[in-house]
Amino acid sequence: MEHILIIEDEKDVNRLLAQTLKEEGYRTTSAFDGMEGLHMAENGAFDLIMLDLMLPYFSGDEVLRRLREKCDTPVIVISARDMVRTKIDLLTLGADDYITKPFDLGEVVARVVSNLRRCRKEESAKQLTYGNLVLDREAKTISAEETKLDLTAKEYRMMELFLEHPNKVFSKANLYETIWGGEYLGDDNVIKTHISNLRTKLKAYGYENYIETVWGLGYRLNKNP
Ligand code: CA
Repeated sequence: MEHILIIEDEKDVNRLLAQTLKEEGYRTTSAFDGMEGLHMAENGAFDLIMLDLMLPYFSGDEVLRRLREKCDTPVIVISARDMVRTKIDLLTLGADDYITKPFDLGEVVARVVSNLRRCRKEESAKQLTYGNLVLDREAKTISAEETKLDLTAKEYRMMELFLEHPNKVFSKANLYETIWGGEYLGDDNVIKTHISNLRTKLKAYGYENYIETVWGLGYRLNKNP
């Protein structure tokens, strides 16, 4: 269940937001001033934060600025302020979205859903998974149950291609032209060697049959490794 932190000092508004989001199936935690909110945000694992601007101790701007030094949890700012300048400042500070008071509860829910969805998409675009393998596109690594596989750049790229297109059969020419970037002249040794090395490395981690040979056609990910 996704967990939302509500930082809002007006108790009625906080309660109303919490109740509405709970009815939509989210778990919520409430904070009633900037200091408490920041502390909770830094020490908890939240999927999204709703943040009021006018707060005791630390203002919402300050909470957001400090929060962004440490984490990128989506933040929806809620405030009575509706000056364009403020909106731009908040987006610059790292808010993901902005709702002005008085707000419509239906709109609040729609914004929460859309921000959570966008965040999930970004997360999934950063990683590809297959069985127990996790490919991290940012770190350019592939791990099997937390153990990083020791792959060369070309082997990594080959696995990335297979994982990006789990149903595709790659001919040797496909692989050569995509990974090495030149015209394939029929010398398949380089492909065979890389496939063989990759299989050996995967096997060392207990993954025997991840890359399947499709006779006469090429290679693809094995659907039932
Ligand atoms: Ca307030």
